[in-house]
Amino acid sequence: MQIIRLHALSDNYIFVLYDKTQNVAAVIDPAQADPVLQQIDRLSAKLVAIFNTHHHYDHIGANLQLIEKFPGVKVYGGAEDRGRIPGQQVFLQSGDRVQFADRMGEVIFVPGHTRAHIAYYFPPEKTGEVGELFCGDTLFAGGCGRLFEGTPQQMVDSLQKLATLPDSTRIWCAHEYTLKNLQFALTVDRENTELQKRYIEVQAVRQRGEATIPSVLGIEKCTNPFLRYSQPTVQLATKSQDAVQTFARLRGMRDKF
Ligand code: ZN
Ligand code: FE
Repeated sequence: MQIIRLHALSDNYIFVLYDKTQNVAAVIDPAQADPVLQQIDRLSAKLVAIFNTHHHYDHIGANLQLIEKFPGVKVYGGAEDRGRIPGQQVFLQSGDRVQFADRMGEVIFVPGHTRAHIAYYFPPEKTGEVGELFCGDTLFAGGCGRLFEGTPQQMVDSLQKLATLPDSTRIWCAHEYTLKNLQFALTVDRENTELQKRYIEVQAVRQRGEATIPSVLGIEKCTNPFLRYSQPTVQLATKSQDAVQTFARLRGMRDKF
């Protein structure tokens, strides 16, 4: 399975999955139709699936146009998003499986950013492969999504579920927020040398105009404050000794950053 990263809107990423053998493609969170259609055209592939993580417009914006172009395409989303995702046909719950070509993806229910948010995890199947996580606006490189419809406790639980995946898992999140996320991270975890190193690397990557996505889960665990709410240093910065309260305060501080 090949993964192609496309840019959309101001800072969104759309991911196209491509299987060469069957010549089929799928798309994760199509914000806009044009980049997707151009890519499918370049591949001369058939679009067979749209995998939506949640109902926000910058993740579902192209659903209807893509259905029009590829009437056989199957549209997947969370069961709790019923009525909010245009063209949705498959209503997924935690633990459900989705198939794309020869790969099997697992659905992880991750409410917090919205009450219905899901992530798609494709575990490695052969040696040399790594797991691929498409987590929408839940876990970001260096950060996490805003809490629009969920509580801090829900988001902590959701991020905890993602953190149990193997450290080598690649994180395909939907926005390029990494630089600003790490700038914020440094304000609450400034002694973290891994974080300092990552910030310098990301600065260079962005100066070259390149993408910081995918990230890797093991790196997130060492540098992302929204996975480090149990660390004494981070708790000191938020003046709390409780994990969920630390998380809630971090999220509040990041909202105003
Ligand atoms: Zn969103
Ligand atoms: Fe978004």
